[in-house]
Amino acid sequence: MRIAQNSWLRVSNYLKESPYHDMAVIAIGSIESHGRHMPLGTDMLIPDKILELMEQKTDILIAPTLPYGATDQLMGFPGTISLGLDGLTLVLTRITDALYRYGIRKFIILNGHGGNIKTIESVGLGLHKKGSLLALINWWLIAGELNPAWKGGHGGAEETAGVMAVNPDYIDMDQITQPQLLKNDIGDALPTIGFNNVAFKGGTISIPREAHNYSDNGWIGPDAPTQATKEWGQEMLATMADYITDFIEAFKQAPLPTP
Ligand SMILES: [Zn+2]
Repeated sequence: MRIAQNSWLRVSNYLKESPYHDMAVIAIGSIESHGRHMPLGTDMLIPDKILELMEQKTDILIAPTLPYGATDQLMGFPGTISLGLDGLTLVLTRITDALYRYGIRKFIILNGHGGNIKTIESVGLGLHKKGSLLALINWWLIAGELNPAWKGGHGGAEETAGVMAVNPDYIDMDQITQPQLLKNDIGDALPTIGFNNVAFKGGTISIPREAHNYSDNGWIGPDAPTQATKEWGQEMLATMADYITDFIEAFKQAPLPTP
C-alpha cells in the first residue's frame, strides 16, 4: 500500500485492517556523484526498484522514497545535493513521528547510501525509547553478504549493475576511465585508499575531506564498474526484494520494547 497513491481514507482503513498495520517501509537515498558513468540518483533509484519488486509480494505500507540524504563529502561534484546530518535527522524524525502518530511501531528503512547510516541509527535509538523498532536495511551491504560476488563499493560494479536493472540508458559505460586512480592529496606517505581513508603502516586512518580532493571522478570503488551487467542487477535486486519480504514476516513477530 503506497501512501502517496492512496487517499487518507484508504490508508486509515488499511491501518485498521491490515495484518501489517503497525509496520511501514521508508526508502532513503542520496543525490550525489557516483562517477562519470552513473546517475546522481543511483542511491534512490535502486531502493525504489526494490520497492517496486516487493510490492508484488507483500502488502506492507510504503512511505514515499526520500531522495535526499547526508552527503556533504561529495558536494564538489555538480548536481550533488545534501541535507547534511542535521537536515536528514530532522526530516527522518518528522516522517517517523507522523507515522508513529498513526500507529506505526515497526519502521523498516531501506537505505541506499552509507552516509545516511549514522543518522538512521540515531533516529532508530530514539524510536526504541518510544516503544518502537527501526530496522535498517543497507541493501548493498546485505547483497554482498548474500552473494560475495556482488560485493562492491561506491560507484563500482554492484551499484552500476543495480542501475542497469532500473534502466540501462542511465549508464554511460564509455565514461569509465581505467584504471581508476585516487590522488594522494595528503602526500605519498599517506596514500588514499577510499572515502576519507589513508593507509599508514598496515592500518587505516580516516582524514575527513571532500571527495573531489582525491577523486576527479566520484567513483571511489574499489570494484570496477566495467564488470557490471544488467542480468547481475536484475538477479541482485530480485534477491533483495525476496530477502526484505521474508524479513518483514520475521520482523512482524518481533516483540515491541517497553517505552
Ligand atoms: Zn551509492
